[in-house]
Amino acid sequence: MTVADEVLTEAPTSDEARVLELCRTLLAEAPPASTDPVEFLGRQFDLGLAWVHFPEGHGGLGLSPKLQKLVNETLGRAGAPRAGGLNPIGHGMGAPTVVTHGSEEQKRRYLRPLFTNEEIWCQLFSEPGAGSDVAGLSTRAVRDGDEWIVNGQKVWTTLAHMARWGMIVARTDPEAPKHKGLTYFVVDMHAPGVEVRPLYQITGEAEFNEVYFTDARIPDSERLGEVGEGWRVSLTTLMNERVAIGGQIPPRGSGFIGELMKVYAATEPHDAATRDEVMKLWIRAEVLRLTNIRASHLRAQGTPGPEGSIGKVVMAELHKDLSECAVDLLGAEGMLFPAGYPMARPTTTALWDNAPQAFLRSRANSIEGGTTEIMKNILGERVLGLPGDVRVDKDLPWSQVPRS
Ligand SMILES: Cc1cc2nc3c(=O)[nH]c(=O)nc-3n(C[C@H](O)[C@H](O)[C@H](O)COP(=O)(O)OP(=O)(O)OC[C@H]3O[C@@H](n4cnc5c(N)ncnc54)[C@H](O)[C@@H]3O)c2cc1C
Repeated sequence: MTVADEVLTEAPTSDEARVLELCRTLLAEAPPASTDPVEFLGRQFDLGLAWVHFPEGHGGLGLSPKLQKLVNETLGRAGAPRAGGLNPIGHGMGAPTVVTHGSEEQKRRYLRPLFTNEEIWCQLFSEPGAGSDVAGLSTRAVRDGDEWIVNGQKVWTTLAHMARWGMIVARTDPEAPKHKGLTYFVVDMHAPGVEVRPLYQITGEAEFNEVYFTDARIPDSERLGEVGEGWRVSLTTLMNERVAIGGQIPPRGSGFIGELMKVYAATEPHDAATRDEVMKLWIRAEVLRLTNIRASHLRAQGTPGPEGSIGKVVMAELHKDLSECAVDLLGAEGMLFPAGYPMARPTTTALWDNAPQAFLRSRANSIEGGTTEIMKNILGERVLGLPGDVRVDKDLPWSQVPRS
């Protein structure tokens, strides 16, 4: 049986055949079992199989994004290293933002080491006074010749302690209304004046951080998009973030629901009421998976639209319910925290290490990447066309908006 037979149910189209041929070339030239993961991923990028919808020469082939699933499944079955796990923010948000708004030089500089996970990325949007209302942020960037001097504080910055590059939005014109005075940069997290301090979560781990900027300098060549266009660039990051968090398409019965099924199997026998509860969760997980498959097929181009918020809202509540059910199934054991309370700084984001950890970690799902309330506002306004939220400060110069 060929790779195509395993992954496709119908005869391949010419684009599918091209992609499968390139996968075969990659697997022959760099057998996953004997090839260093960084080298494998580098070759995957060079063959255009990193993100097939990206331009040729930048990790893609200029094809439909639908074909990426074929690449991932084909390479996955052959035991290839998974690209995104170590660098979730780079893969989920950094790459689509760079490819949409970056210059040729920036795409050449950032995309390959991002894909191979040699350079980890983080997202520096939220501030103590600006989370849901991120356009109200206060971090300032002031131009000084060919550089920008940055001062301010960011917060909840996932994996900043691992990151080489950060996507930062800063205020460059305080006299413009809040959405218009922002500029977007890629900042070197190792530069002088950038300080990363851990913030511990309910799980006892510090996945995220506070990041302080004190006269940090960013070369103008590391600006993404035009001066004052930071909000437009940010929207690309945010739209992709929602889908990166809520739009996952794991194989049927895997992911969180697969983890719950393991706990279910290990704690048998169960009564009819428990079976009924688990069955209902299984159906919800499958409905989300199928909805995400449909959304990915409808997405003609890379950047998702406001409907990307659907998966985010549904996933957040589902993950909470799935992990709570797993804890219930474990009974008294579910109250124990197997890993202890380690106060560690993890190297990546772990959503399900064990049921009690997943139960605690999933509380963040309805906050990170935009809260459920904000997702519902987006869906109400941008998808259903309902009247907008009240926004009294939208047209005022940012400097005149009262803030604490
Ligand atoms: C695990 C985790 C990881 C994160 N990682 C990152 C990261 O890497 N980078 C980054 O920049 N940020 C990150 N964040 C921050 C996240 O994006 C913010 O926490 C989120 O946007 C909410 O902002 P806030 O915490 O300031 O809450 P607030 O905006 O103060 O909201 C407080 C409450 O008010 C509600 N609310 C606010 N405005 C409205 C409104 N208009 N209508 C209805 N309800 C409203 C909210 O839904 C919420 O319930 C992370 C957060 C978590 C939990």
